[in-house]
Amino acid sequence: MNLEPLTPTAQAPATNFTGRVYVNPLHAKQEPSQLIASIVRFTPGARTNWHSHANGQLLHCTDGSGLVVTRDGTVIRMRAGDTVWTAPGEEHWHGGTSQNMMCHIAMLEGSDGGDGTTWLEPVADEEYQAAQA
Ligand code: MN
Repeated sequence: MNLEPLTPTAQAPATNFTGRVYVNPLHAKQEPSQLIASIVRFTPGARTNWHSHANGQLLHCTDGSGLVVTRDGTVIRMRAGDTVWTAPGEEHWHGGTSQNMMCHIAMLEGSDGGDGTTWLEPVADEEYQAAQA
């Protein structure tokens, strides 16, 4: 076993995120495991682009209040202690609420040498605001 090294906090790229989002990688694939895990901290109003994960994704909220939204209009409000599963290929976004930060641990299994995430368009402000209600 080993104590995993503490990783530096990086700002998530504007190509796939809106607003300020900070990421600490926790674990990258170590063959034969495909597990990838990271801590992601969203500031209020910040969110991912729309995207999907080839093998699904497990999100566990550790702090704050956030949203996970799918294309069919389903909105899950996530608070500390809540866990949300998005199925393989299911298009969704996640982020903080307009009023609060949200921190989650994101866990997924990679695919084809990458992390299996397909990134799509940003979440429009109107779309984001509609999900707050
Ligand atoms: Mn996701």
